[in-house]
Amino acid sequence: QAIDWNSLASELTGIEIIDDPTKVAKLSLDYYHFSPVLESQLKDKRGNIVVRPTTVAEVLEIARVCVKYKAPLTVRGSGTGNYGQCIPLNGGLILDTTRMNQINWIKPGLASVQPGVKLAAFDKEAHKIGWELRMAPSTYRTATIGGFIGGGSGGIGSITYGVLRDRGNLHAVQVVTLEDQPRVIELRSDQVQKVNHAYGTNGIITELEIPLGPVYPWAEVIVVFDDFMTAARFGQALGDADGLIKKLISIHAWPIPSYFAAVSNYLPEAKHCALLMIAESSLEPFQDLVREYGGEVTYQKSAHEASKGVSLAEFTWNHTTLHARSVDPNLTYLQTSFVNLEQVEHLYHHFGDEVIMHLEFMRVAGKLIPVGLQIVRYSSEDRLNEIIRYHEDYGALIANPHTYILEDGGMKTVDMEQLRFKEIVDPYGLMNPGKMRAWEHR
Ligand code: FAD
Repeated sequence: QAIDWNSLASELTGIEIIDDPTKVAKLSLDYYHFSPVLESQLKDKRGNIVVRPTTVAEVLEIARVCVKYKAPLTVRGSGTGNYGQCIPLNGGLILDTTRMNQINWIKPGLASVQPGVKLAAFDKEAHKIGWELRMAPSTYRTATIGGFIGGGSGGIGSITYGVLRDRGNLHAVQVVTLEDQPRVIELRSDQVQKVNHAYGTNGIITELEIPLGPVYPWAEVIVVFDDFMTAARFGQALGDADGLIKKLISIHAWPIPSYFAAVSNYLPEAKHCALLMIAESSLEPFQDLVREYGGEVTYQKSAHEASKGVSLAEFTWNHTTLHARSVDPNLTYLQTSFVNLEQVEHLYHHFGDEVIMHLEFMRVAGKLIPVGLQIVRYSSEDRLNEIIRYHEDYGALIANPHTYILEDGGMKTVDMEQLRFKEIVDPYGLMNPGKMRAWEHR
């Protein structure tokens, strides 16, 4: 039976509610349009109302009302996810966390925050005592910490610390349940994996305890190369050089550098580039590595200079796709874990200009591996699937960014722990319905 939204809203007195259809439409969507497949599946999806709580007590009240009316609830941070993670498939209430933006405390190595704290805003505070987030997506300036945990995986900094799912990269969370009597549950240590990267399907995260890394003055450097595989090998060598301290190694095959208008003066025609963040104190020995691989440094900014202008980080990770698509909207992308550079070399030559190589380096189980966020010239869904199959047959793991189903993206398998936790905290299946296949098909 249809939900009476006016009646539901009238029970949420004192909580900010948005029901203007234009605003609700905007707050229903994310960056799903990076994928032409998701674009057609999700563009018309809308929530009914948006609520913006500021306290846990308000979240508990929202949860109570949703359970009473059996209303679907989708949590949203800044809505920068790019698989439609926070797009409500069945309408309902959108819980926007951006007003829950209090930093509770920061001490050396650890902090406690509300979920709507933005990553860059957090670091600004943490920098004051010499610490920062261990890793951040390239949407660092806008994305929330809760959204990064709910829908992200890793990014700038993953070269040292691995990904969010790695033990120790999230210490504790508190979640509000959608039971008949909603309550707050705290999960600590390994228990956090029950909600880590669960697309907000099993509890509303209302508080997080996150570990930090020490801040170095991060210099930003561009190195260019005549040959792509030399650039890739240079990236691997830099990553493997344990004595050189770095935060970002991002390698781009031509013509990707031609999409980076704001730094085009430093990216010569037909050259392949490495965009890097390196501790200032490592710059001198780093020059020898550049020489060894025949690279040319075309851009170098101190941490202080880099903090003023455009950051190179905003051309890396999925921002690369953003810049590519602003030049040619027919471009889309893949997310690939390679075993080694031999695989990269084969696939680079095999697909030529159809799948243009973009590599990020990150630590996986103690080993530095190249991951691809390749730019794909899109022709059809069939061809896209053919390209994905070819990679998989060749042994490269694709975290498919063209699906909004949790298990079909990076996870690949049903996470029984997350499913069991959902059975407890969301017995009516109200949270972000349609995203966790294991629940829908149980
Ligand atoms: P949202 O998109 O609002 O939400 C993400 C998911 O988390 C949703 O499923 C939502 O329901 C859930 N969620 C949000 N808050 C809560 C909560 N309080 N409780 C429970 N569930 C919650 N991602 C990376 O990992 N690395 C990258 O480098 C990266 N680069 C990107 C570059 C571009 C240009 C774009 C568009 C996206 C990129 N992303 C990347 C994806 C995304 O920006 C990040 O994962 C970001 O951290 C998401 O934060 P958000 O606040 O926008 O979350």
